[in-house]
Amino acid sequence: MKAILKTKMTVAEICEGFEFNTFENKGLYGLAGKLTIQPEYQRNYLYADEGGEREVGVINSILNEYPIGLIYFNKVSNNKFEVLDGQQRITSLGRFINGKFSIEKGTQSFEGLAKEKKDKIKNTKLTIYEVEGTETEIKEWFKTINITGLALTDQEKRNAFYSGPFVTHAKEEFSNTQNSQIQMWSAYIKGNVNRQDFLERALAWVSKGEKNIDGYMSRHRFDTNIDELKIYFNKVINWISKVFEDVEKEMCGLEWGTLYEKYNKNSYNPKKISSKVQKLITDDNIKKKSGIFEFILGGSKDHSLLKVRIFDTSIKKITYSNQTKIANKKKESNCPLCTLGHDANKKKIWKFNEMEADHVTAWSKGGSNDIKNCQMLCITHNRVKGNL
Ligand SMILES: [Zn+2]
Repeated sequence: MKAILKTKMTVAEICEGFEFNTFENKGLYGLAGKLTIQPEYQRNYLYADEGGEREVGVINSILNEYPIGLIYFNKVSNNKFEVLDGQQRITSLGRFINGKFSIEKGTQSFEGLAKEKKDKIKNTKLTIYEVEGTETEIKEWFKTINITGLALTDQEKRNAFYSGPFVTHAKEEFSNTQNSQIQMWSAYIKGNVNRQDFLERALAWVSKGEKNIDGYMSRHRFDTNIDELKIYFNKVINWISKVFEDVEKEMCGLEWGTLYEKYNKNSYNPKKISSKVQKLITDDNIKKKSGIFEFILGGSKDHSLLKVRIFDTSIKKITYSNQTKIANKKKESNCPLCTLGHDANKKKIWKFNEMEADHVTAWSKGGSNDIKNCQMLCITHNRVKGNL
């Protein structure tokens, strides 16, 4: 059996000539007719079930440049392919491009997207293996990559594909439960050693992103050592433990490779960092504790990383009704910032759902979440004001 890695095929090419059969609930063809997306023996399309969260997830992944995983084509003849693994993802893409569903809670169709987003989706390249072999070989292989109920993880599949000295050494270091360092690493890395999650992280770090892992493994497949991988990984780990003296559970699973690349040139005072972390980690107004570390690394400026708690609904409603009463009396807008303007909105009474709560004294300057510190602004003005 033979497998060739293809990394240049775009979403647009794969979805060319896409059809969706509503009666059979199947995506039919792609690659201008050369690709059969759901051959008879495959499952039906499932990603539209349960509110369609999974098909929306595929599109959002593409827009955010998250990898959507490996796809396998079976080469049935010179110009004919079948999807062995990936039919759900490809069908999601085809359905979206063809207007069969929308994202952003059903409000955003493909046609309505800005041109650059459309292009981004269409031009995204997928990682595809073209597999060629006899039917028995393919079936046997398909069975091994999809052990019933426990599909192989992407990294397990990669290890199989790039098997050789590099994978052997890499597994000895990063997939070995006997390695005494695993416990220390697991403060920062989430997942299961046995399912290759630690190895995947190490590879993603050294190759600067999950989508580069395949290229990296293919280049190093026959290397007899893993020095570069190991050195880079240890640099990242050492940097984290030097900058952050305490280990917090919220540190686990952060994109440390990216943070290292972005901030390792800065100098930090670990004692000061530690006291900042302690202060923020106990602050109930911070909803996203995992954002604290990048917030501090970046100089405590980007509050959006922390998702600071806003006022609860009852406070917002009372404030809205008070502001609106006064505004009606004065015959001016219920958004205090709109009243200062000179356009049509000067007298506009916004509906409750057209407004957002704002901290009069910014949270970052010690302002509370008390009703006295709450004002409602129209969405535009709140976004302009921006700071917390
Ligand atoms: Zn306004």
